[in-house]
Order: sequence, then structure tokens, then C-alpha cells
Amino acid sequence: MKRRICIIYTGGTIGMVPSDKGYVPSPNTLRKTLDAISDMHHPDMPEWDLVEFSPLLDSSDMAVADWNKIGRTVARLYDACDGFVILHGTDTMAYSASALAFMLEHLDKPVIFTGAQIPLCELGSDGRDNIVHSMRIAASGMVREVCVYFNGVLLRGCRSTKKSSDQLLAFESPNAPHLAEVGITIRYNTAALRPAEEAPFHFQPFADVPVGVIKVFPGIQFELFESIMTDKLKGVVLETFGAGNIPSSQNALLPIIQKAYRSGSIIAVCSQCMQGTVSLGAYATSKALQDIGAVNGRDMTTEAALTKLYYLFSLNLPKEEIKARMEQSLRGELT
Ligand code: ASP
Repeated sequence: MKRRICIIYTGGTIGMVPSDKGYVPSPNTLRKTLDAISDMHHPDMPEWDLVEFSPLLDSSDMAVADWNKIGRTVARLYDACDGFVILHGTDTMAYSASALAFMLEHLDKPVIFTGAQIPLCELGSDGRDNIVHSMRIAASGMVREVCVYFNGVLLRGCRSTKKSSDQLLAFESPNAPHLAEVGITIRYNTAALRPAEEAPFHFQPFADVPVGVIKVFPGIQFELFESIMTDKLKGVVLETFGAGNIPSSQNALLPIIQKAYRSGSIIAVCSQCMQGTVSLGAYATSKALQDIGAVNGRDMTTEAALTKLYYLFSLNLPKEEIKARMEQSLRGELT
């Protein structure tokens, strides 16, 4: 029997059309466009249904409620489908893919995010190939996790990051191997794919938790951040230099972080480098962060660390448990 794949269209360049304000999503047109792609009706193509969100969004406009809406739709159709292809804007696709990886607990089916750098209505669009190959992968029976597929490579969703605003290969997973590569055949990296799940699937929606990201830079005036580092801020991803280093000269950050930590915030230390890992304590400039209770984000992307904070706070866990789980791999998001 043919597999059945649900295509969830959330918006993004793939289905956009030009307007006098620039590219905008165009409701109720994607079905006709997909129907006109002969591969979508090829005998080897799985059966498919299309769910179109309203409103369709530029992914820059997405927030927690939109991640929950995608998650809820997957949960509603979970038993009826063998897999999902999520058509999504590229700008925040890595955040949504990371969020879904956490909220879809014990996922045992493929959820493949894809989109396009060039709209389907334009000459030379990459959208057609991205959809067709995402559908093939979703129907292959090989994948049981949230992924991003773009321009020939399949990446773990919670390892992916947008790396280019104009190349067709827009995404990379700098600290994790490709899960598959599409050439004449699709070559799966079976050793890297997540194994089957025993426990039943469960959808865990996110609460709109007050969290933030701070990117340090030379000359940063930390005292400016004191007013936001209150007990209202539940978690912060600190994007540090290299292996987890912060400027030590002014020494202003540590008391602020310490105060935030004491009043309940979780500080997750990630790196501004695309590749490599945070190693707290390797330098004196990072040892201090370790000493005041910051969490080692190791080689997590900022997207994964931030959405993991949303996830763990949504579970209402005690602070020490959140800290511990931040340093453990829950979905293959860290090494
Ligand atoms: N701004 C668009 C979006 O993220 C860009 C894209 O889809 O490539 O929705």
C-alpha cells in the first residue's frame, strides 16, 4: 500500500508571489501549483494531502503560538499519516525545526521541514526539487525524527542553522553529520539516524516563557543588560566567544549573571562559532561562568538551546532538573 504524507503549508518564500511591497504569501494557490508539478503525481510518489494554514506567514513573523499550531496539526494527523512535510519560510526554519523536535516527544515518524530560496512561481525555483525529495524521504520509512531538507542534504532539525541568505544550500548542521544526501539515489547515513521509539508519541505544547539571547561583543556594556536580567527572565542563551569566553576586563557581567541565577534564571552558554564546542573552564574567561552555575551548552546551536529552554520550562521542572537536562542530549541536539 502507498504511504500517505501530509504536507503542512505554513508560508514562506516557496509559495510567495511578488507584490508592490515585495514577496508576500498567496493563500489558496499552492494546491494548483503542486498539482502542476508532474512528479507530485508520479507513480512512485506517495499519496499526499495538503493542509494550508491561515494566515500564511513570512517565517520572520512566527512565534511560540505558531510552533504550537504546527505541533498540534502533526499530533491531530499523526495516526492518519506516515509522515509530514512542513513547507516553511527559511528565515526561522531552524528555530521551528528545533522547537518541533522537542515538542514532538517519542516521535516515530518523519517530519521534514523544507522551503525555497526562490518562489515556485519564479524561473529556476529550488522549491520543486526540495518538495519532491522531501516527499521521497518522508515516504522512505527510514527517518523518524524532525529534519530540515534543503538542496540535496537532510539535516537533523535541532542541529540545523540557516547559513546563507542567497545560496540554494541555505542550511547546514555544522556539528552533526548529514542524515542523507540526494544524488542519483538517496544515500541515508543509517548510523546517524535516530532509532525507533518504544514509548507512545506525545505532543507537548510550549508555554510562552520569557527567555532571551545575549550575544557578547568586544566593549559590551553589561550594566545595560542588568535591567532585563530580573527574576522575570527565566532563561538566557549567552552567545560567547570561541569555547565559551566572555570579556573579563570590566567584570560587570558576572555579578549580573550570578544575581539572575540566584533569582531562578538558567544561563546557557553557547558559542558564536558555527562549528566546535563550548568548553567551560578551558580559559579563565569562561571558568567564572562555570563557577556561578551557568549551563554548558556545548555544541548546541542557539536555535536548539533557546527552544530547549522553552521546552523544559513548559514541563514545569525544578530549576536543577532543567539545568541537568540542558546538558543532556534529548533529541540528538548536542554531542
Ligand atoms: N522571509 C522568508 C521567510 O522566512 C524567507 C524564505 O522563506 O526564504 O518566510
